[in-house]
Amino acid sequence: MHEVFTVVHVRAENYRTKTLILDRSLSAQPGQFVMAWLPGVDEKPLSIAAEAPLALTVVSVGPFSEALHGLGLGASVWVRGPLGHGFTLPDDPLGKRILLVGGGYGVAPLLFLARRARAVGCTVDVCIGARTSADVLLAASFSAVGAMLRITTEDGSAGSQGMVTQAVDEALRAERPYAVYACGPIGMLGAVEHQCKRYGLPHQLSWEAHMRCGMGLCGACEVHGRSAEGWLACHDGPVDRG
Ligand SMILES: Cc1cc2nc3c(=O)[nH]c(=O)nc-3n(C[C@H](O)[C@H](O)[C@H](O)COP(=O)(O)OP(=O)(O)OC[C@H]3O[C@@H](n4cnc5c(N)ncnc54)[C@H](O)[C@@H]3O)c2cc1C
Repeated sequence: MHEVFTVVHVRAENYRTKTLILDRSLSAQPGQFVMAWLPGVDEKPLSIAAEAPLALTVVSVGPFSEALHGLGLGASVWVRGPLGHGFTLPDDPLGKRILLVGGGYGVAPLLFLARRARAVGCTVDVCIGARTSADVLLAASFSAVGAMLRITTEDGSAGSQGMVTQAVDEALRAERPYAVYACGPIGMLGAVEHQCKRYGLPHQLSWEAHMRCGMGLCGACEVHGRSAEGWLACHDGPVDRG
């Protein structure tokens, strides 16, 4: 069942990313997503970037995301959710150090997680990877919540030059975290999963897949190789624990 939300504020995050702030809250866990519907355009999954009020951070890459970018104040967005399984923080979080690793729009649900984690007393390290300085997303927002930030860009125009996994290695060598949380492109997630296994660290990774129903019925979002029984990103994930 969809609920209609109204856009009350739009924040430009970078040259191709906007956060739409909607008119009310949706109780959710970081890492959960909603199916956002624009009638006549499409319905697609978007991570919950904040819950109170509901905020969606959208990178403009194609027809649906461009249509979202075109919405002005007072426009309607139809929302189903929250859906899927999100990230879980340690049972006894006070003083625990966690490492968050994000690429692309994957940093949006991690900012929601960082806020929750800081509120319950975790120490939060964040590694953000981007192609160039212009693509770095939400860095100031992570600093504002008191997270320790490492940025890598492929061209070296911000932070260290290289891939985000180099910053992850550096963070893991500096201090062992209690757990690692990641969201971003599939190649990045595979590399981070490999690092976590090498260091023997618990990890929670949010896998992205092309989704249709968002509720485990159509099978469109199966992520191969995660479970012998078949693993659906919408129903079994998007967060998978290892
Ligand atoms: C669980 C989940 C959560 C998601 N959360 C978000 C979110 O918080 N914010 C968000 O912007 N998108 C998110 N997405 C992606 C979103 O659902 C759409 O795929 C995206 O908006 C593109 O749709 P489109 O119709 O505009 O472009 P499409 O026509 O679907 O894509 C155009 C081209 O861009 C590529 N592409 C798609 N997404 C990206 C991207 N983010 N960066 C670079 N290239 C891309 C596609 O592979 C394609 O080649 C999420 C997807 C999943 C599965």
